[in-house]
This record gives sequence, C-alpha cells and structure tokens, in this order.
Amino acid sequence: VSASSSNYIKTIMAEDLKAGRVKEIVTRFPPEPNGYLHIGHAKSICLNFELADEFGGRTHLRFDDTNPLKEDTEYVESIKEDVKWLGFDWEKLFFASDFFEEMYNRAVLLIRKGKAYVCDLTAEQIRETRGTLTEPGKESPYRNRSVEENLDLFERMRKGEFQNGEKVLRAKIDMASPNINMRDPVLYRISHAHHHNTGDKWCIYPMYDYAHPLEDAIEGVTHSICTMEFADHRPLYDWVVRECEMECVPQQYEFGRLNLTNTVMSKRKLKQLVDEKLVDGWDDPRMPTISGLRRKGYTPEAIRELCREVGVVKTNNSVVDDKLLEHFIREDLKLKAPRTMAVLQPLKVVITNYPEGQVEMLDAEINPENEAMGTRQIPFSREIYIERDDFMEEPPKGYHRLFPGNEVRLKHAYFIKCEEVIKDADGNVVELRCTYDPETKSGSGFTGRKVKGTIHWVEATSAKPAEFRLYEPLILDYNMEESESFLDKVNPNSLEILHGYVEDNMKNAKPYDKFQMFRHGYFNVDPKHTTTDKLVFNRIVSLKSSFQV
Ligand code: ATP
Ligand code: MG
Ligand code: MG
Repeated sequence: VSASSSNYIKTIMAEDLKAGRVKEIVTRFPPEPNGYLHIGHAKSICLNFELADEFGGRTHLRFDDTNPLKEDTEYVESIKEDVKWLGFDWEKLFFASDFFEEMYNRAVLLIRKGKAYVCDLTAEQIRETRGTLTEPGKESPYRNRSVEENLDLFERMRKGEFQNGEKVLRAKIDMASPNINMRDPVLYRISHAHHHNTGDKWCIYPMYDYAHPLEDAIEGVTHSICTMEFADHRPLYDWVVRECEMECVPQQYEFGRLNLTNTVMSKRKLKQLVDEKLVDGWDDPRMPTISGLRRKGYTPEAIRELCREVGVVKTNNSVVDDKLLEHFIREDLKLKAPRTMAVLQPLKVVITNYPEGQVEMLDAEINPENEAMGTRQIPFSREIYIERDDFMEEPPKGYHRLFPGNEVRLKHAYFIKCEEVIKDADGNVVELRCTYDPETKSGSGFTGRKVKGTIHWVEATSAKPAEFRLYEPLILDYNMEESESFLDKVNPNSLEILHGYVEDNMKNAKPYDKFQMFRHGYFNVDPKHTTTDKLVFNRIVSLKSSFQV
C-alpha cells in the first residue's frame, strides 16, 4: 500500500481547503517530554510535517507537558534534536504548560455554565462508579454542587488548600453515555509537584483529554492527528472545544501506531531498560529510539522512507518487521557509503615469496555501484591480516576459502596459496605462511587459472586497530505491548564486541562516517566510544547476501 493511496487525512485536508473550511493547514507534533523519541514517533513526525508541507501549511512542535512528575528538560532537548535531525523544522515551539492560565480560565467558564463540578470521590471511587460497556455509570453525590460552591472549591484547589487526590474537577456530561469517556471525565487533578517549566506555580494540572483539545485550539491547529487509541475520545475532544467556546475548532483524526518486531516501543519500557542499565543509555544502538538508530548509523532518509512506506492505514496499528527498516538503510547507503576492508577477527598471514620491506600501493574502487566516487590506494606487503573464519585446516566440502594447499584471491590484490600452518603450544592456529603469484595481480587481466574464493585482508604494518560492535535484536520472542514482563525477554547476546583492523585510509574517519565493509555490511563510526587511539564501529546492518563465498 503506498502512503498516498492510504492517506485519508490528506484527502480530508484537500477537501477542507477547497470548501473553505480552513484557510491553511496547521498541524502539530505533540510529544510528552517524558522520554526520548522512538521510531513510532518518527511516523507521527513525518505525517504531521509532510502533510502540512504538502499544502503549504505549517507545523508546530508542542511539548505536551501537563504531567509534572515524569517530565524533564533533558527530554525536551533530545526531542528538539531528534526532530531536527529527521529533517524537519517547526514553525513555532510551544509548551502546553504555557497555556495553564488560559486552561484554568476555560475551566472556570465551564463551571459558570454548569458544565463542570468539583468532586470529592477518590480515584478508585470514580473508577468504580464509571459503569461498564453494558451498564451506565452512577452519578457522583457531588454532581449537583452549586456554581458558587464549585467556583470557590476550584479556586481553593488552585491555592493549594487540598492534598493530592482529595478533590478533582469533572466535566458534567452524561453518566449514562454509551461512550465511557463521556461519563463525567476528570478535567483537573491535584498534584503538589515541581514542574520543569512552571516550577511550583501550579498544584493542579489538567488531564490530557481536557488539555489536548485546548492546546490545539489555542495554537490554531486545524487537523489534530493522533493514534488510534484516541478514536473513542473524539466526542470528548469536540465537547471540550465547543463548551470552552474556543474560536478555532480543530478536528481530530486518527492513524495506526507503528510498532517494530524484536523490540519494545513504549517510553516507559525503554526507560526501564535505561534505568536498569541493560543498555548503554537512551541512544544505545540496540534501542528503537531515534537517537539509538542515529548512533547505530541509520540516516534520516532511511527512517523517513520507512514511515512513508508504512503510510496512514486508518484502522491498523502495524507491526513492521525490523527487516524492512534494514532494507531502507541498505537502499540509502548503497550508493553513498565508501567501500573498505576490515578484518574483525584477525589471523596473520606471511607471504613468504614477497620481498621483505617492500610495500606497494594497489588501486581499489571506492564504490563499484557508484563510479563517481573514484578509487583509493591500499598498501600491500609481505604481512597481512585475514579473517580467522576465512581459514580452515580441515575444510568441509564446498569450502572455497583458504585451507592448506588451496589458492584464493585477495580482493584488489593477488592470488595466494596456503603453504604452512603455524600453531602455538596449545595447537591454536596463530599464523599462516602463504605464497603469492605476481602474475595474478588484480586488474592485470590474468586468465591463466581460476580460484573459487575471494577474501578480504588488511596490510599488517599500516593497519589501524579498531573495535567492532555487532548487534542482534534486543528483545526475543516478545509479543509486543501485550505482556507486561519483557525484561526476561532481553536477548543476553544482543551485543558482540570484536577487536580487529581497518585499512590505513580510515585514519581520518570521524563519528557518524559510514562505510560498507567488504563482506561484513554497513558500519557507522560510534560517536560515544571512538577515541583518537581507537575507532569504534557499530554495525548498522549486514549485507543481504550473507557471509558466504
Ligand atoms: P509512548 O507510549 O511510546 O510513550 P506516547 O503516545 O505516550 O508514546 P507521546 O509523547 O504522547 O508518546 O507521543 C507524541 C505523538 O507521537 C503522539 O501524537 C502519539 O500519538 C505519537 N506516537 C507515539 N507512539 C507512536 C507510535 N508507536 N506510532 C505512531 N505514532 C506514535
Ligand atoms: Mg502520550
Ligand atoms: Mg506513553
């Protein structure tokens, strides 16, 4: 399904403009600053920014910071960085908490109109009297308090005269409504807590269902796009906008959440992984956070393409195979990333018939699929490293790499033949002695004989030591958001660290530089662990054709 054919919101926007119901399209991305953004948020970001952009409209970034307990400025900063990195720029930036005074005034208006009341029931009592799908709720004994009493109590709530949970402000709608969200929902709660933006100014805070429509209306948002679970809240959204007599009347539309296989996606669960130190912070390359994907080596282009592909299927929360994300990063890097050779698990090879002390420079293309990237020079000498896996003393049938007596091609160089195996006292192979054939130089047009295997290598005296971090899924066999206990599903082998070598050409590599390492896949220079002495690479994704010759 292409994004455009399934994008029902786009159709509505076009009609609204045509019919003159709105003058321009205004959308918003409204994260709560209680964690780092994840790939699911990217879908919402792309949708909001790209839709508005398509119609020449604008998009706001709004921090939905109405819950003082979980919010933090660290999250605010990371969210701004991630949205920008994805390639979007907001027209205006808002904090919902900047609207607290107006929200309070609108609540007073509701009280005056007899549309809201202060209720002394506990949270539990409110839940118990809400009724069920088949049974109506029970009216609160405080429902018919006079306007004067409600005004007085609400003001005293604001002044801090009551404890947390002692009183709430509720909308007075309909306890028999078939929609449970309309059964006198709570609009304000008491919370004596410090707020990251308003400090100690407030001790009452608006609930999401009350705050969100007001925020949209105050900002002049025309199309308020949210995830499916809010579909049932839509009548309440409309009620709040109408009864609070907002001038701007935004409309809510829903789209399916994006979930990925082999991970968890809620901020609460991601925070748990961070807090319990099961990962190396919110930006651990195994995390589905934007910052984790960035550190792993994903590009904004790849993430945006995924979001477009997934589209706006209205009723479906899609579980996207993480393989699809991998597909898009391969596609994006295929023509961009320089090719290079790296040995992740080195085995030394001495080429006994190559002159001692001689170093020659060989030509190697930088990207065979993108000739414009040109060529590089790589040194070759008597001593090289090859991949430990590319040698077997007793090879199984069909093994075409190096074994005693066998000849292989060294990529960009010569044929070499394994003549002797050197072992340590314990019988471990520590070095190979090989011979090379000068006639077989790569690019010389040699056709005298063929070999079945081509292996990569790195010249030993110029090789740069490097660390390679290979990743597997963070979570195994986890049924997405259904089960609560996911910590026991954390994959203990999700990170493998190897120490090997890269070409001398890599000495100038900087954090976030990306390479395709011959036969190993795409790698990103890790920004956190790379030092002047040691490059650290995160494997972004393996090559589709796996490690076979
Ligand atoms: P989480 O449960 O992961 O914490 P959230 O919905 O509580 O997510 P918000 O900060 O409120 O997080 O989300 C900001 C916006 O991103 C909202 O409009 C929300 O609907 C959207 N969003 C969040 N998660 C996803 C997802 N998995 N797929 C698509 N959109 C999402
Ligand atoms: Mg939320
Ligand atoms: Mg949440």
